[in-house]
Formats: sequence, structure tokens, C-alpha cells
Amino acid sequence: MAKHVYDFTEGNRNLKDLLGGKGANLAEMTNLGLPVPPGFTITSEACRHYLAAGAVPDGLDQEVAGHLDALEKKMGRKLGQADDPLLVSVRSGAKFSMPGMMETVLNIGLNDESVHGLAKQAGGNERFAWDSYRRLIQMFGKTVLDIDGDLFERALDELKGRRQDTDLDAGELQGLVKTYKGIVREQTGKDFPADPLEQMRLAVMAVFDSWNAPRAILYRRQERIPADLGTAVNIMAMVFGNYGDDSGTGVAFTRDPGSGRQGIYGDYLQNAQGEDVVAGIRNTIPLEELERIDKHSYDELLGIMQTLETHYKDLCDIEFTIERGKLWMLQTRVGKRTAGAAFRIATQLVDQGLITLDDAVTRVTGDQLAQLMFPRFDAGAEKKKIAKGMNASPGAAVGKAVFSSERAVELTEQGEDVILVRRETNPDDLSGMIAAKGILTSRGGKTSHAAVVARGMGKTCVCGAEELEVNTRDGSFTAPDGVVVSEGDVISIDGTTGEVFLGEVPVVPSAVVEYFEGAEPGDELVKAVDRIMRHADAARRLGVRANADTPDDAARARRFGAQGIGLCRTEHMFLGERRQLVEDLVLASTDEERQAALDALEPLQKADFVRIFQSMEGDPVTIRLIDPPLHEFLPDIVDLSVKVATSPDVTEKDRKLLAAVKRLHEQNPMLGLRGVRLGLVIPGLFAMQVRAIAQAAKEVPGARPEIMIPLVAAVQELESVREEAAKILAEVGVEALIGTMIEVPRAALTAGQIAEAAEFFSFGTNDLTQMAWGFSRDDVESSFFHRYLDLGIFGVSPFETLDREGVGRLIKIAVEEGRAVRPDLRLGICGEHGGDPDSVHFCHEVGLDYVSCSPFRIPVARLEAGRAALSDTDSDTR
Ligand code: ADP
Ligand code: MG
Ligand code: MG
Repeated sequence: MAKHVYDFTEGNRNLKDLLGGKGANLAEMTNLGLPVPPGFTITSEACRHYLAAGAVPDGLDQEVAGHLDALEKKMGRKLGQADDPLLVSVRSGAKFSMPGMMETVLNIGLNDESVHGLAKQAGGNERFAWDSYRRLIQMFGKTVLDIDGDLFERALDELKGRRQDTDLDAGELQGLVKTYKGIVREQTGKDFPADPLEQMRLAVMAVFDSWNAPRAILYRRQERIPADLGTAVNIMAMVFGNYGDDSGTGVAFTRDPGSGRQGIYGDYLQNAQGEDVVAGIRNTIPLEELERIDKHSYDELLGIMQTLETHYKDLCDIEFTIERGKLWMLQTRVGKRTAGAAFRIATQLVDQGLITLDDAVTRVTGDQLAQLMFPRFDAGAEKKKIAKGMNASPGAAVGKAVFSSERAVELTEQGEDVILVRRETNPDDLSGMIAAKGILTSRGGKTSHAAVVARGMGKTCVCGAEELEVNTRDGSFTAPDGVVVSEGDVISIDGTTGEVFLGEVPVVPSAVVEYFEGAEPGDELVKAVDRIMRHADAARRLGVRANADTPDDAARARRFGAQGIGLCRTEHMFLGERRQLVEDLVLASTDEERQAALDALEPLQKADFVRIFQSMEGDPVTIRLIDPPLHEFLPDIVDLSVKVATSPDVTEKDRKLLAAVKRLHEQNPMLGLRGVRLGLVIPGLFAMQVRAIAQAAKEVPGARPEIMIPLVAAVQELESVREEAAKILAEVGVEALIGTMIEVPRAALTAGQIAEAAEFFSFGTNDLTQMAWGFSRDDVESSFFHRYLDLGIFGVSPFETLDREGVGRLIKIAVEEGRAVRPDLRLGICGEHGGDPDSVHFCHEVGLDYVSCSPFRIPVARLEAGRAALSDTDSDTR
């Protein structure tokens, strides 16, 4: 029988798949000899079984009972024992960190009897015992019994009045327990379960179920975490930070997750338990002040933080509790950080000798690099600063202020940019946080919910702007000098400095982009980026090219590090004033008329190619012959019909054009007369383009054209185009590779034949994805992809990240069969996927020669190609 339960002493950090991140790291800390309360972990496998079968796996209950027994022996007391109870927490924890998205229940084991035992255990501290009990009913009621948490909050608020929770005395808390139990009875028709074992069992199942809570699903989709992993459950002995002022609880980072600087960095709250710190119920104090309160624990904590950094060789974040002067470690993980900090920390760790430059490249991601390429506020612009909070997550965001998650979503759907303003956020605000351009809160520190979640998403966030009086009910906030901002007023927030401005502040490009554009690396961050990019470039095997149609794009791409153009589309060369000539081409009734139109187009195209070859200075340029259906260059059928039917000055040409447009009209233009089919049906069209390319290449010394034929499905199509093109190249006296796109499934499946006629393949994965799935991209993304994502049919749109199983399989077949026929076949990809991190790793794995992507994604592709080469087995791009 499979083992479903692991004691903390049995696990280690490498077992995240099974034990979740929290469980694996609790085990790791236990085995490092750090003070971790004892406990055990139920595997995510058991959760998957439970979610699929609706019941826990056979034997799980006995296994848990065995481990509980051992825990009770170790602690010398039994779960919920009336005179001296053991209490436990039941905590979620999946492979990937999902902060606050799932459930945790503390103080399991309390009931009307053991509450007295707990007080006795605590030396007669009745207040503490009743506080713990009311917390249990509140958490259990909300998460296990599905009772609206506001009911408990409201009862607590009524009791507190203007006081803080710590001002409530034992009698009042006892009364609150009674009120809470009344709420449970009223809402569920049953009494709060007094049996400690039943409490634990129900809590375990509730944690399993919380994997599928709406906010957890939303978070996973946003963070691209697979939907089928399930969560592990950790059961651990409780330690108490709510004994009194000699106790407390806190969170900390081993370095600043914003800048990467080493130092003391965290929040602490006296006489508090668990979530209190991040929930912002009272204002926390900076961790430094713990030195004054409890020097012994403080020193021990700093020592442990040092141990963890050296052990994990990375920034860690931790949760800890001090129980009457004794420090306990409750959680650690390699901490989330801002994009800038990721680069800085990686190079700092290299300088400290903790990791190598190879490691450093794998520690940063293309997504983080992309974030650093966002614009920032113009330092020279005039701004009206109205407040300053904490710089929780960097970036520059401008938008209309909104005060609820719902409004944030609504206005965003109407195309508005919004800034979500809250006193503090909670997990229910997730949808609004995703929708908003930025997040502003008036309470909570850099470890508050808003800050942690925003950093994880790479969203601009300013938190704890305490000068702001936020009134969510009226939908407004007041700044110190009396400025009132109401819903819809535009504000700008700077997540790098923490500043809040009234109105729209103009933005300027990022320093990292300026560096890619050729500026010398100036500040520490850009130097770190420079170092890592150089190392990634040296390590990568994949070439990186650009999708660029114009000389400007080509030049920028080259500055960004492109080693050529992998896709130069030619359709724009038929637009603008040249539409006229396309119309002439379509309307031509004789060979002469058609040739005249083509002859007129040729010099124009040649001039375009000359400029592109010049800007690429001898790097290869893959030019795709015309691809879209011709009607795209003609007037719209409805407009033209109306004109012909109603306008007084209709010309003969209009009538002819309308007839032509009608003749060319197709039900499924994407599957109609386009690509190579055009070249075969319209005599001279491809020949004209090839001649323009050849003439241009002849004029620009060192030009390296590659001629690419789109939409080929059968080798015969390619052969006949190739023959004509080769003849023209020979006539002009220019050499060029001739190859094809692989974007129709049949081409992939007959790649062995096609390779006989092609010197290179370029995978057009946009079309290949459309045709492999039978999806029309422009239609499906808005009509039903949401539903498909909800159903988990795919975790992320196959147009964003290459579908390895289906489309990827077609690519693999084409690579193998193509190379078998022609070992020096050049292989590349030119769909949007060429700039997507996970897809770049796939291209590396299947042995392509290069990826091609839009100019702005080139640095991302370079970095990911380096990461793919350096982390052979680990293709995790998160
Ligand atoms: P999350 O994943 O949302 O952070 P956790 O499982 O970490 O949830 O638990 C929530 C809070 O409860 C944390 O602050 C944690 O430190 C605290 N906590 C969990 N287990 C215990 C325990 N056994 N004793 C004391 N505090 C605990
Ligand atoms: Mg936690
Ligand atoms: Mg295509």
C-alpha cells in the first residue's frame, strides 16, 4: 500500500511534489536541527485521490492515527485531552506556493472541557485559552463549515467597539465563544463538533477541498500552476504567540525582496496568532524592534536566518512564533521577490561565493526580465504627490481609482485602466488585483497580503500609505492636505518609490531597455542584467532571430541581440498606396495587364528589401512570400456593395471590383486561397517577389536572403515554386536558401518528403496550433477559451504556450523525419511561441537551431535559451 503520511523527520526539501513546499521545507528545517514543532504531512497524492474519488484513500485514517499517536507520545499529551490538551494546526501546502489561497485551521483539539485544561497548562491564563478557543470556532466555522466569515467578524467587532482584540478579557472572550457557537448552530443546524478527532478529520478534508476554492483556481490560472496537483496537508503541534506580551508572531525575509539588499527585514506582532500579522488587524512593528523586546529570541532568529540562507543558497522567507520567550520556526521557503531583486540577488549570491554564474542564470526568468522592460515614471515630469507608502512591488501604474474588486473587474472589462484602492486586501480581492494596473493600500507592510500577491504577479503595488483615509463604502479616499479622490479620478502610483500622485504622470522607458538599446550598464540592476545576459548568451545553443517586417523593427531587433530575421512578412508591402496596384492585379483580364501590375510592384518591393538587408548587416533574413488571402487588400464587401448600390458617382472600376470581391469571397478564408496556393494560382506573383529579393540582395553586399514559402501541405506545391525561384536566383546571380513553413499538420506528417525540396523548415506555430486543434484563433479566444480553462482542458491557452503533447508532437515528427532526409536541414520557429519561456525550452529540447520572436521578446528568448541549456532536466520556467 502506498505511504500517504510522512513524519517531518522523514521528509526533505526535494519531496515538494509529494509533501508540498510547506511540508518539504518543514521537514528540511527539522532535519537541520532548527526548532520546529513536531508534526507530519499527508501527501498531495492522498488529496488527488480524495478529489477524484470523493473519499480518502483506504488506510489513510489508520496511517494518520499511527502518526498522531507518535506525536502525542512525543508531546506527552493527547489531542484535546481534557486536563492537558495537545492542540494541532491543520495546514494546506501545495507544490507551488499559493499564499493565502487555501485554508489552514489552528487550535484543533479545543472544546468546552479542554479549554480549561489549556488554561491550566498556561499557568492559569484563562484569557489565552478562551482567545484560542474563539479563534478555532471562527476559523473552523469559516473554512470547514462554510459559514460566512463576516458573521464572526461582526460579532467580534461589536464586542470590541473601539478597543483592540488584545483588550478583551477572559470573560468577554468566553462570551464570544458562546456567541460563535450560536452562529454555528444557527447556520448549520448542528453544534460545533466537540470531538477533537472529528475536528481534525473534517479540517483535513476541508483543506483538500480548498484546492478547488474559486480564488485558488483563479490564482493557479494567473500563475500558470497546473490544476491537477492537489495540496498536501500538514498537521503540527500548536505553539502559541497569543499568551501575552512575552509572546508573538512574525514573518521575515533573509534579505529585502524589493532590492535584494541583505538586512533585517520583517514584521512582528506581540500577543498574536498566525494570520494576525498579515491580516493587518493591528499595526505590526518592524522586526528590528524585537531586539529590544526579546534579545535572546532575536539573536537566535538572526542566526537561523543566516543558516537558512547558506543552506538554501537563496533568499528565504520565514514564519515564526515566540511562545513565552521560546522561538519556533513555522515555515520557510525560497521567497518570492521582485524582478529587479531576482537579478540583483542572483549576482550578489555569486559574489558571495554561494552559487555559480550558471546557477545565477537559472535563478532568474524571462518573465522577470520582461517586467524590467516596462516603462517607469518620467523623473522630469511635473507631479502632484499626495502620499507615500511602502514600495511593495515596482513599476509605474496609472489608472482610475476604484474601491472594490468588483468595480475593478467591471471597469477593466470596459477597457479602462484602474488602480485598486483598499484599506488592505484579502484573498477575496484576487480578481480585482488581477484586473487592476496597480494596487494601493493604506494599511499593512511589505509582507501584507497585497504586497506578497502583487509581487508574485509582477503587479505594481504601493501598500501601507497610512496618511490616506480610505473609505471603501463611499468609494473615496482623503489625502493629508485635504485632497479627495473619488472613484473614477485618475491617480498614478510608483511601486519602486512608494509614491502616490494625483492625475496621470507620463512614463518613460526602462533603464534595462536603454541598456539593450546600447547604453552602458549604469546602476547595480543593469549591471546584474548585463552579467547574466552575457552568461546566458555564452551558454545557449539556440539562436535567436526576430520577426521584423520593417527596417526600424529590424534595427531594434538587432540592437536587442537578434542574430537575423526569422520572419519578414511581405504583406505590408502591398498596403497603403500600393493597394491600387493589387486591385489592378486582381482586376487584370489579360496576361499583359497582370504583368504590368506586377512590374509596377517589383521595384517598390525591391527597395523595401534593400533597406531591410542593409539594417541586418549580413545576418540572415528569412523572407516569407505573400501569405494572406487577396481579399484582405481589397475594399470591404459590404462597404463596396453599399457604394455601388447607393452612391451617385460609382465608377466602372467599382463595379468590376465588387464582382472581383464577390468572386474572391470565402467562407473560411484562413483555409482558402492563401500562401503557396496564391503563388500557384496567380502566375508571376511569387516570381515577382523572388526577383525583387534577388535584385535587392545583389545590391547590398553581404546580404543573406532566405526565401520561405508559406502554407505548404504537400511537397509538390513546394517543388513547383522552388523550381521557378531557383531559376530566377540563377538568372540574377544570387544565392539564397529556399525553404518552407511547417504550419499545416500534413506538412509535419510528410516532413520527410518535404525536406527533399526544402533547405530549411520554420515552424509557424500559430497556424499549426489553429489547424492541429481545429481552432480559429480570432474566434475561440473570446468565445470559449475561458470555459476550457475553467474545465482544465488546458492550463494555459495553446496560442500562448506551445501545446507540447499535440502540436509539439507534430514538430517532433517533422524534426526527426526532416533531419533523417537532410541532416543539415535548418530548423526554426517563427510563431508567437518563439518568445514564450516554456516554448523556448521546448524548442531547445527538440533540437531546433533558432527561435524567432518579436523584437521586444528577444532578450527574453536569449535568457530562456541560456536557462534551457543550463538546466537540462529542469524545464520549470516559473
Ligand atoms: P498560509 O499558507 O496561508 O501562510 P499557514 O498554514 O502558514 O497558512 O498558516 C497560517 C498561519 O498560522 C501562519 O502564520 C502560521 O505561521 C500559523 N501557524 C500554522 N501552524 C501553526 C502552529 N502549529 N502553531 C502556531 N502557529 C501556526
Ligand atoms: Mg504560511
Ligand atoms: Mg501562417
